[in-house]
Amino acid sequence: MTDVKALELQHVLQTYRRLPVVFERGEGMSLVDDHGRRYLDFVSGIGVASLGHAHPAIARAMARQAETLLHTSNLYFHPLQGELAARLASLTGLPRAFICNSGTEAVEACLKFTRRYWHGRGETGRTKYVALPHAFHGRTMGSLSVTWDEHYRAPFAPLVPGVTFAASLEPEALAAAVDEQTAAVIVEPIQGEGGVRPIPPALAQAITAACQRTGTLLIADEVQSGSWRTGSFLSSRELGLNPDAVALGKALGGGVPVGAAMVSEAIASQIAAGDHGTTYGGNLLACRAALTFLDVVDGGMLESIRRVGTYLQQRVRDLAKAHPDRVVDARGVGLFAGLELNADAQPVVIAALERGLLINRTATTVIRLLPPYIAAERDIDQAIDILGACL
Ligand SMILES: *Cc1c(COP(=O)(O)O)cnc(C)c1O
Repeated sequence: MTDVKALELQHVLQTYRRLPVVFERGEGMSLVDDHGRRYLDFVSGIGVASLGHAHPAIARAMARQAETLLHTSNLYFHPLQGELAARLASLTGLPRAFICNSGTEAVEACLKFTRRYWHGRGETGRTKYVALPHAFHGRTMGSLSVTWDEHYRAPFAPLVPGVTFAASLEPEALAAAVDEQTAAVIVEPIQGEGGVRPIPPALAQAITAACQRTGTLLIADEVQSGSWRTGSFLSSRELGLNPDAVALGKALGGGVPVGAAMVSEAIASQIAAGDHGTTYGGNLLACRAALTFLDVVDGGMLESIRRVGTYLQQRVRDLAKAHPDRVVDARGVGLFAGLELNADAQPVVIAALERGLLINRTATTVIRLLPPYIAAERDIDQAIDILGACL
């Protein structure tokens, strides 16, 4: 620990406040630290290690792919990118994919592609974006521009111009923010970093109505809420949203960095060779990882994701009822849960770590639970028991 920490302090740019633990290996629902101590993982690397750790299918697929071919760039064809794009098209209902390496890049691509659409149609003044209070879309200049938290944005001003944040999550506020100059509205169906807040159905209806009224495109940022975390491949569909573009990431690669921007045929028809690109994006390693993730979930895991997800939501709501002095609200869908406390949640995160449970704080007062999809009811029980003791 001391060596690892000292070396990082000296040479790693100090952009992260890490918890005092060094993980050396993982196995299913567990991470193991440098003293051999086991932790039940309800963070899964912020929703990324979707099949848990060292999943045999991912391990085997990665080893085989490394022995065959990892990377060729996008100068040439390889057999896996089209296959992944086709799978994602059938899962999202959006026919075309741009494969990239992260959630931020997927959001960035959606922002660029929606503007490109209006440019292609000769409406070059239609450049504005509308985003929501509490939105988090990433840290690059474009995605940061539509991210709500002033602390993230202010030190990097000026950002991309033309971004409006709806004044509130009320339907009227959204309607007032969208006009004929809006290129796209961007929403997380369930706001993750903003505190695990599913957007209210009335707001979803207002988004659809505003987009229809003005012809504005809709981007669903499903980097955290998508890829079956809630039991559906896209949470936006459950809310009745009909996005023109969808950003995917996190769980999609099963631990390997993969993102995807999915777009409608209307958007795709305005995009030509050279409009966007990536060196790594969609390489064989990343595509193999995502295909393996899709195969494993599609191959019989969905029923358990939904059953255990429902159970998790029940247990967090019961936990909230049992601790009315500490817990203000329990929210979420499926394997994506949040407990809002009446105080900073970090002491609970640290207490849980000491008891062998990994959970995460977001939006200061919210405990976020993002277990791997392999979670069983007994894992939920164990996590809730520890969490109850910590509260
Ligand atoms: C995590 C996240 C991002 C950013 O993804 P990175 O992989 O960190 O670039 C974007 N949008 C949402 C909703 C996220 O949860």
